[in-house]
Amino acid sequence: MTQNYNITLLPGDGIGPEIMSVAVEVLNVIGKRFDLKFTFQTALIGGAAIDETGEPLPSATLDMCRNSNSVLLAAIGGYKWDTLPSYKRPEAGLLGLRAGLELFANLRPAKILPQLIDASTLKKEVVDGVDIMVVRELTGGIYFGKPKGIFTTETGEKRGVNTMVYSESEIHRIGKVAFETAKKRGGKLCSVDKANVLEVSQLWREGITKLAAEYPEVELSHLYVDNAAMQLVRAPKQFDTIVTGNLFGDILSDAAAMLTGSIGMLPSASLGANGPGVYEPVHGSAPDIAGQDKANPLAQVLSAAMMLRYDLNQPQAADLIENAVLQVLQQNYRTGDIMSPGMKLVGCRAMGDALLQILEL
Ligand code: NAD
Repeated sequence: MTQNYNITLLPGDGIGPEIMSVAVEVLNVIGKRFDLKFTFQTALIGGAAIDETGEPLPSATLDMCRNSNSVLLAAIGGYKWDTLPSYKRPEAGLLGLRAGLELFANLRPAKILPQLIDASTLKKEVVDGVDIMVVRELTGGIYFGKPKGIFTTETGEKRGVNTMVYSESEIHRIGKVAFETAKKRGGKLCSVDKANVLEVSQLWREGITKLAAEYPEVELSHLYVDNAAMQLVRAPKQFDTIVTGNLFGDILSDAAAMLTGSIGMLPSASLGANGPGVYEPVHGSAPDIAGQDKANPLAQVLSAAMMLRYDLNQPQAADLIENAVLQVLQQNYRTGDIMSPGMKLVGCRAMGDALLQILEL
């Protein structure tokens, strides 16, 4: 029986529309192969939404996202909107989307693809086989804790304040996502905190440790964040799944991503308790190459694969897309960002066509 899915597309700005159209074509081909029917609706976000409506996240966009099975986002932002006040800038659209859909878990895979191993700045033997998933808490911690702000003391001196805070329920829900993720992967979970100094981290460690009893098949370990940063560049293969708070996750997920050396290849997922998740590449809107058919669409395509895996529960369809990406690289097709000597330089469109050819076989 045909499975029907309503997908909201948010192409956004810069290279967004170019890479999104490749992902949509890939999904349509996959749909035919697996008897899935995707109904796509496109909505405005970021700079494109500001130009059209004056708001980076129009309420119609949020409503459409809420009423769909999943959301595929490309990227937002660009020079044109850089001088607007922060609440009016394209980035405010992203934050509003995360808050509006209560997306508390951010999943960022960092996997070395053998065909691109030379793109890493680390030695081949250190990164060969790296396959890490960073699960970052996204709606709590020091980015949202109160009090926050810059205050003036009685003596007239200014003080900047942010507060790192996690409640037991916040730790429990991100912990559950992380254990479930680890269970589906290599069965190893490393929780990262700063429990030797921070009380909030002591509660974090206690909560994650308590949850471990529900997941006997997952091997849990703990690391302090400074050591985790060191281990990520020293011996990254020791990690399978990492779970951590908002601030530590922000930093460590970028460090993990850079083990792979190629920003145009990295997808991500942001998940809530119920309702649709948002799937998007890690990179931005690349305004420097927008409209020139130079963008690498593979992170966007891999984001669509994550959507199939996590929101739509179609792991075989996801596997097929991920394998097709490996195959186009095996056939030596490269966009400019991952180009190396002896490879075939192609644009966004041609990379998409090469993918479709493999998927249509
Ligand atoms: P960026 O990721 O857009 O670009 C960094 C560099 O990587 C550029 O040289 C760009 O050409 C290249 N690049 C990025 N994605 C690529 C791809 N798919 N194919 C080929 N090359 C690619 O980061 P930036 O330049 O710091 O930011 C540009 C704009 O994007 C800013 O307005 C920023 O706020 C926004 N941004 C948005 C997001 C998001 O939508 N989630 C994330 C980061 C930055």
